[in-house]
This record gives sequence, C-alpha cells and structure tokens, in this order.
Amino acid sequence: MPSRNHEQRAGICAWCNESKKLVDAHIIPSAFYDSLSDGGVPLVLSSLPGFRPKKRPSGTYDSGILCEDCERRFSPWDDYGVHVFRDQAHLENSRYVSDGQGGRYFQVESNADGRLLCFVTSVLWRASVSTQNEYMRIRLGPHADLIKHGLLNPLGESLEKYSFVITRFTDLVGNKTMTGPHPFSIQLRHGSPLNAYVMSLPGWSLIVKVDQRNWPTPLDQIAYQLGKPTLALMNESKNYTGHWKGITEIFTNPASQPSSKIK
Ligand SMILES: [Zn+2]
Repeated sequence: MPSRNHEQRAGICAWCNESKKLVDAHIIPSAFYDSLSDGGVPLVLSSLPGFRPKKRPSGTYDSGILCEDCERRFSPWDDYGVHVFRDQAHLENSRYVSDGQGGRYFQVESNADGRLLCFVTSVLWRASVSTQNEYMRIRLGPHADLIKHGLLNPLGESLEKYSFVITRFTDLVGNKTMTGPHPFSIQLRHGSPLNAYVMSLPGWSLIVKVDQRNWPTPLDQIAYQLGKPTLALMNESKNYTGHWKGITEIFTNPASQPSSKIK
C-alpha cells in the first residue's frame, strides 16, 4: 500500500456495499510500476480526450472504492498477475510455440484455477468503480455485477464470458508503457462491433471481451480458456499499430511530455 498523509475516510465500499473506512486501492498492482521506473518516474496514460500524462510513482489508486477487508480479497489475484506478467515474462526460446504455419505465440503460465482470469477481470472491475479521471470511459453496466459474481465463483461459467486475448510486445516502448483499461471495439465482418476493453502492462496488451457474443474466428483460437494453454500473440512493437500511435507520440515528441508536477 502506498504511503499516505491523509486520514482514511469512511464511505460505501463498492464490493461489500457497507459503510466502512476505505483504503487506498490500486487499480493495477503497484508492482507493475516498478518495472517502468528505472531512470524515471512512471507515467499514467489514458486515451481520454484531453488527458495529460501524469507522473505517478506508485501508480493509480483510488481511496474511495474498497474497505480494507475487501481490498485484501484482490491480493491473491494481483500477486498471480504480477507473477505471470512480470516475473514469468522472460523472452526465452523455450516459451515460443509455433503454429506450424510460420506464426509463433508466446506461452503464458496460467493455473487451472482461473486466477489469471480473476486478475484481469478484477482490474477491469476496479477501474469501473473508480472515479479517477482516466477510468471515466469505463461503463460496464450490468457486466459489473456479473463480473463480481464471477469473481466469487471463479470456476463457474459466468466469468469465462469475459475472456481475453493477450499480445506480447518485445520492443522498448512496449516494455515501458502501461495503460489502464479503456474501451476498444472489435470490428466484425457481420453485425455491430464486439465490445471490449484494452489495457496494457509493461510488455503486454490484454483485450477483454465485455460482450455476450463469442470471440470471432480466429481470435477464438487464442482467447483465454480455462483448462487450455494460454498463448499470447507476438507483436514486435507497439509503434506500428494505430492503437499505439498516440502512446508512441508521447514518447517521441518532447513537447507532449508531462509537466514536472507530481500529483
Ligand atoms: Zn468492503
């Protein structure tokens, strides 16, 4: 937990719905910010129009969403997320899997107990109840309660609907950027776009489906599924896709660097 210089305040906890003293709750575990911080202070980025990158030494947290007991509930999921996406993220040859047609994937460690899905969906849930500026565009509607219900029954079917597609980045920008969840739609050949949220951790991007429909082919082949090996698509660089263009600009255009104010 980050150091604090203000009193804990009482409020309604978004998880237990009781009036309790609320604690500083990270949306994304602070451990991920450590891997961004050598040589500088991590930036918090957002796709929100007009959002200025902010320097956040230990990441974004919200002091108005969770009581201490409920915040603790997230720890095993967060620890596992840090284990998989930070500690077990080495780019070793043995981690690559070939599809036999010239494509390759990165094998992600994941337990059969659904903890990885709990980590990813719980970050999205926390962002959805947060009132922090960078999460204003997250509107899960009825999915917020469905995700919470799923987190209480991680091996049930309800959470698996919110599966995700992982991309592994190997370049410097990809390894040194992180964004909290923000809306992302996937264009389909037929019908309206699939609703999703995308977030990125250093070296990774995760697209979480928040939609009743299934993943379209071929994404259904790689989307996270309980009991199946978890594979990540390989992308050599966040630079060359439209999705990452804005983020890359922040790193290449000194004029758009954040001010020195630390909030
Ligand atoms: Zn609570």
